[in-house]
Amino acid sequence: MPKHVAKPPIRKHTGRSRSQSNRGRTAGRASGEASPYDAGMAGAGAGPAERTEPRREVSRLPKAHLHLHFTGSMRHGTLLELAERDGIALPDSLVEDWPPRLSAADEKGWFRFQRLYDVARSVLRTPDDVRRLVLEAAEDDVRDGGRWLEIQVDPSGYAARFDGITAFTDLVLDCVRDASERTGLGIAVVVAANRTRHPLDARTLARLASQYAGRGVVGFGLSNDERRGSTEDFVGAFRIADRAGLLLAPHGGELRGPDHVRQCLDRLGAHRLGHGVRSAEDPALLDRIVEAGVALEVCPVSNVSLGVYSDLTSVPLPQLLAAGATVALGADDPLLFGSRLAGQYATMRAAHDLDDATLARLAEMSFEASRAPSDVVAAAKRDIAAWLA
Ligand SMILES: [Zn+2]
Repeated sequence: MPKHVAKPPIRKHTGRSRSQSNRGRTAGRASGEASPYDAGMAGAGAGPAERTEPRREVSRLPKAHLHLHFTGSMRHGTLLELAERDGIALPDSLVEDWPPRLSAADEKGWFRFQRLYDVARSVLRTPDDVRRLVLEAAEDDVRDGGRWLEIQVDPSGYAARFDGITAFTDLVLDCVRDASERTGLGIAVVVAANRTRHPLDARTLARLASQYAGRGVVGFGLSNDERRGSTEDFVGAFRIADRAGLLLAPHGGELRGPDHVRQCLDRLGAHRLGHGVRSAEDPALLDRIVEAGVALEVCPVSNVSLGVYSDLTSVPLPQLLAAGATVALGADDPLLFGSRLAGQYATMRAAHDLDDATLARLAEMSFEASRAPSDVVAAAKRDIAAWLA
């Protein structure tokens, strides 16, 4: 259907256009011009007009990417092409109105987000589709300065089409090795359970992840709508993952606040928090997080797209940094939010007027919070220092 033919998306909206406080800086930006959501704005001279010193290119800053979901990493053009191939009808919000206007203010809003995610996942039909997705995600991260990627996947979401969770995990790990060899990007996998499914499924996934510990899988997560399901029910799954030495990285502190972050720390033993950004609402909690060295995978554009914050200037990154928190910026689901890895650094630089030393520190922290091998971390830190020099 012609509807699915790739064409330049009409940017009916971006999170930025909803940002009152940033409007002045982008006034006059015609539709079709580079959006601040593109990594392109990371380039020198793309900043506020009043700035005179040269700005280092954000896309050249080495980064580790610690919060990226599997289907959510797909290129928009690839989604359109695969849907066209198989005659899959996509909703307008994934075609001409891309990126979709989203909100997770209530369960209905989240349901809509989840439904779009499920539609996007349905275009992955063959092992070659999966291989292409992983390779393109790796290429895009490399273009954005990525040196290390921990990609998050819930194998049960793909099991029906790819012969079960074990076969799918084998496929993903093979694609990861292949993409890593071809692009030079270090890649590891975080197996994530879905909190809206039965806790026994999560235990099964935790055992699966444990079997692959040290063979490509580095962590265990818990995703989907934080307001649904009971975190307590997933204690068993996280114990299994913990015994295997996996990094424990549940989503928390995104759609729910400090109370749920505490639960993730107390009950699941989280080493790292998917989002965790709302820890900023509770100084005592934030102190505890800093003290414990728990890192926060902050995804600013996702937060604004889903209505966690009204605009990019409201994402409390400066507060988290001032408290001494370890923060790693991530894109979450570029396919649905329209912004990739470098875009997170670029938007936070613009929204909070971050200097280059702060951006370099953010990049360093992304490696410190990762499970990247020590030689990868050391090389990245040398190159981050060189970027800043
Ligand atoms: Zn996420």
